[in-house]
Order: sequence, then structure tokens, then C-alpha cells
Amino acid sequence: GRGAVMTEIGGFSLDASIMDGATLDAGAVAGLSNVRHPITAARAVITDSPHVMLAGEGADQFAAQRGLEIVDPTYFFTERRWESLLRVLERRGMPAPKKPVMTGEAVKEATLLNDRGDKFGTVGVVALDRNGNLAAGTSTGGTTAKRWGRVGDSPIIGAGTYADNDSCAVSATGTGEYFIRLSIAYRICAHVELDGMDLQSAADLVIQDKLTALGGDGGIIALTTDGEPVWSFNTEGMYRASRVDGGETVIGIFGEAD
Ligand code: ASP
Repeated sequence: GRGAVMTEIGGFSLDASIMDGATLDAGAVAGLSNVRHPITAARAVITDSPHVMLAGEGADQFAAQRGLEIVDPTYFFTERRWESLLRVLERRGMPAPKKPVMTGEAVKEATLLNDRGDKFGTVGVVALDRNGNLAAGTSTGGTTAKRWGRVGDSPIIGAGTYADNDSCAVSATGTGEYFIRLSIAYRICAHVELDGMDLQSAADLVIQDKLTALGGDGGIIALTTDGEPVWSFNTEGMYRASRVDGGETVIGIFGEAD
């Protein structure tokens, strides 16, 4: 959650989801405000509740009841995201909210983070284990200066996250509204399973053609059932890395040539 983008009123509203490709078990949380690791809460929805998705205060309460680590929301604060919020609010002609004041440990950790100049944002992961089981997970603060309880694609199974041992695992990043409307993560898996497409072609069809045609921006990381990493994005760059057991770590930011 730390490094998440900020809401219009200078707070945090965190979304996450996770899916198990072997069982199609899925868990999601939307609008968390004080759970240190939103993805852990998403996983707890699978293991500790009969539901798939929990939202808002109830989701925070669930996480607290399950004994997950709760933090003061200022824990998520980074200067970089504050600056982005101020830029968006200025464009909207809105005054800046009160700057969150961090205390204690949060200050120390945030300073360290800012000094390292690390890149934070939506985090997605796809994995294949030694038993051939796929999984996918996505965690985000959403989009900068979001309001009205806006929820993006990241906690929506089939939009921002999907995994099925019969097709592939996908995690998405980008402007969530488009990913929801196109059911991006599931759509890619469906092309693989139902149309027999290879994963790269399916990902490119959905991202380069469908998403682009709709005016959306973003990308996905994905894994085949054999553990071959695939990505596709229509933005200038997408921070990404992959490693296949015994192989090199492949890291990229911009197009294939970097
Ligand atoms: N997809 C996320 C959302 O719309 C944001 C992102 O990936 O940057 O909430």
C-alpha cells in the first residue's frame, strides 16, 4: 500500500485482488484505508470468508478482525504522490487538502523511500508454481485524485486480475474504467482457452487493438500454463520484470528495445 496514489481529499483508498488458477478461488478488497498489506486482506477473503469481494469500512473491519496489520493511513504517504495530487487538483482548479502529517516510524520509513527514489504504483504479479498452478494478484491505490468512492479494475476479478490453470494468469494496470468495460484479464484468458490463441497474440489483440480502439491506456503482465512470461502495453512504458526458474531476470521500462 505504501506509495499508493492519493484520493481527492488527500487520503488513501486501496484496492487489491488475488486469484488461484487451480481452484478459481478469488478474493478482493476495495476502498481499504488502514490495512498495511491490502493483498493479504484479499487473500484472507478467500481463506477466511465465504465471499469474493469486500468493500469500504467493512473490508477494513474484516482485515482487523482477522488480525492483519493495521496502520495509520499516513503510513501510505509519499512526497511523490502528494506532488501528483497537487498537480491534478490544480488542473481541476481545486484547493489542496491538508497535507497528511506522519508521525514516528512512518516518517523514518517514508524518508528512506523518498531518498531511494523508488518507483511505486499499481503492483501486479503472475506466478506459476512447481505443481503447474497459476496465480495472479494486483494491488493499487487507484488513480490520482479519485473521488466519490471510485473503484477501478484492480479488485475486479476478470478485469484487473484473472488466473485459470486452463488458460493463463493476467494482472493489469492502466485506467481501470476501460479494463472493466472490456473485462480485460478474463478476455485474454478466454481467447487462449476458447479460441486456441497463443497468449502473446491474445494479449496484443486485447491491449493493442481493443483497449486502444476504446481510447484506453495501460497494459498487462501474463503467464502461460508453461510459465512463459508475456506482456503487452499501449503506454510509453510499463515497469516490469520476469524470471523463469534457472534463468536471467528480465527487467524493462519502455518498449522491447530498452
Ligand atoms: N488500474 C488502476 C485503477 O484504475 C490504476 C493503475 O493501474 O494505475 O485503479
